[in-house]
Amino acid sequence: MSDTSSALRIVWIYPDLLSTYGDQGNVLVLKRRAELRGIPTETVRVLSSDPVPEQGDVYLLGGGEDRPQTLAAQRLRSDGGLKRAAEAGAAVFAVCAGYQIVGESFGDDDDNPLPGVGILDVRSGRGETRAVGEIVADVDPALGAGRITGFENHQGRTAVGPSARPLSATVAGIGNGSGTEGAVQGQVLGTYLHGPALPRNPALADMLLSWRVGELAPLPPAWGERLHEERLAAALQ
Ligand code: GLN
Repeated sequence: MSDTSSALRIVWIYPDLLSTYGDQGNVLVLKRRAELRGIPTETVRVLSSDPVPEQGDVYLLGGGEDRPQTLAAQRLRSDGGLKRAAEAGAAVFAVCAGYQIVGESFGDDDDNPLPGVGILDVRSGRGETRAVGEIVADVDPALGAGRITGFENHQGRTAVGPSARPLSATVAGIGNGSGTEGAVQGQVLGTYLHGPALPRNPALADMLLSWRVGELAPLPPAWGERLHEERLAAALQ
């Protein structure tokens, strides 16, 4: 990374293994919403053959198929950089396979438990059915991101342990599988929402940014808010 002093450093973890359903859009929206506030950004793509830099501000992980997910978890565990960055206070936004990977453990394609990176107190196993479709959930009011929407496609079900708390309560869809969706622990956030999640939920993107840069000036509603309303209406009709 070059400028480590003023830019918001966004680290996109393993796009070669983890990036389904347009999850890269999360990187683009985070960058855009920071820059609209005059905050310069620097984006680093970390391939699974590369070491994970530890000086990032926000780390993003996307979804993936079962086997790339297992490989990504093994590499992230042996690298150790993501865990050290999270322990030093970086924000982490992890989607679907990424959500399961940052947890304590997850089931592989035969539901054998495999260790995760261990920065979020959740444990995932495989459900009886595949959860596929639109999802709507109300974020914990203490977090201030309102109602969120996304697209889910996963076999996994996730139990949230005592050190974490659910991100949201499901209104439609499956999520964790117990009436909740996603989990938060400090500045580590996991969610099953693809779509991608941050373009569809500008308030969620701003919440994540505010964790690193503090209070943000509001932006005038634009296409992101229109997309949010349109997707909510479509999911709940
Ligand atoms: N392989 C995981 C599951 O099916 C995650 C899928 C995904 O990232 N869309 O639960």
